[in-house]
Amino acid sequence: MPETALHRISAISETKIIRDLPFSQLTTLRLGGAPAATVRCGSLDAVVAVVRELDSRRVPALIVGGGSNLVVADDPGDLVAVVIDADRVEVRAEGDGFLVEAEAGAEWDRVVAQAVAAGAGGVECLSGIPGSAGATPVQNVGAYGVEISSVLAEALLLDRATGEVAWTPPAALELGYRSSNLKHTARAVVLAVRLRLTGDGLSAPLRYGELARRLGVAADEAAAGRARRPVAEVRREVLALRRGKGMVLDPADHDTWSAGSFFTNPVIDAAALGEVRAAVAARCGAEAAAAMPAHPARAGRVKLSAAWLIERAGFGRGYPGEGAPVRLSTKHTLALTNRGAARTADLVALAREVRDGVAAAFGVRLHPEPVWVGVAIDGD
Ligand SMILES: Cc1cc2nc3c(=O)[nH]c(=O)nc-3n(C[C@H](O)[C@H](O)[C@H](O)COP(=O)(O)OP(=O)(O)OC[C@H]3O[C@@H](n4cnc5c(N)ncnc54)[C@H](O)[C@@H]3O)c2cc1C
Repeated sequence: MPETALHRISAISETKIIRDLPFSQLTTLRLGGAPAATVRCGSLDAVVAVVRELDSRRVPALIVGGGSNLVVADDPGDLVAVVIDADRVEVRAEGDGFLVEAEAGAEWDRVVAQAVAAGAGGVECLSGIPGSAGATPVQNVGAYGVEISSVLAEALLLDRATGEVAWTPPAALELGYRSSNLKHTARAVVLAVRLRLTGDGLSAPLRYGELARRLGVAADEAAAGRARRPVAEVRREVLALRRGKGMVLDPADHDTWSAGSFFTNPVIDAAALGEVRAAVAARCGAEAAAAMPAHPARAGRVKLSAAWLIERAGFGRGYPGEGAPVRLSTKHTLALTNRGAARTADLVALAREVRDGVAAAFGVRLHPEPVWVGVAIDGD
């Protein structure tokens, strides 16, 4: 029972305990019932003391940032939500570049905006990603060909097994495609991040086709990884592209009441590619099969496009249509969206339908990208 722990937490300075606050008010999907309590922490010391207290009493504790990568059950049970409000951001020149230090509770896009305003390069392609700075290493956030792993210098971690706090190099986090050893493990709390950015006012090399084209970069220049543009220009274009896809939060637009991309792009053995193309050809024709996106990935594997497969399996934008509580975004097939009156159970039903439909059509299994709490795509 969390009550003893909560009683002790009430004596820790810069904490605030809130009852009856449903996860629907803490997540961008605006779904999920109420935890036993929510503890807001105004300083990193408070976060450390609160999490140590909860962990020592084995009270299930979930760190919640912007709630933009969370699917929470309609009844999440006895857990305590811990929200980090410490949000200091510092951008300082170091050598011929910049070092950016952000406390975990800082809104990620504010970190990017401050870096870009200083002329620091490397994070501009990550503009507009919702959520907190502290969550960026958790799934190694990425967009437009850049991942946080390319700029992360260190993360300040509270190790939840030992209770120790230490700056930790990225190699210890095993950052991969939308993954790290922090995701799904709750092994540590990220208290702050340090990013090493470039100082010549130019972006990271532009490799992503659509963004490169919009910035007037020739395909061969992009492929060679040589094309760089002023950081402010790239941020502007990234935000415009994302808005067009409903990938920038907007309370008035239900297409953004989502967790972003709901499924990761499937990575398959190169040997299985022929079978997938044959299944696509059988269902959609040879031309579609030849045009199916397939990009080389690590260890001789191939990355397919989840959005492309979902669409070809018959789930178009806005599926299943007007009036449904949860629909695919009308701007992007990869986002599942709450139209206003949904429950988590509705979201789970649509997630299963899409996943199973793609598997039946093409033999490819999709995996959800968000973290699920108190509910599972494979459960009852
Ligand atoms: C419209 C939209 C667009 C998106 N676009 C992208 C995109 O382009 N690329 C991308 O990679 N993601 C994208 N996402 C997903 C999401 O924004 C990111 O995963 C983001 O980093 C989540 O941050 P958060 O603070 O909201 O984390 P939350 O959703 O609050 O938490 C997610 C997980 O991280 C854990 N966590 C959070 N903070 C910490 C911490 N300080 N220490 C330890 N664990 C922590 C939580 O316990 C949970 O397990 C998008 C989401 C939305 C809604």
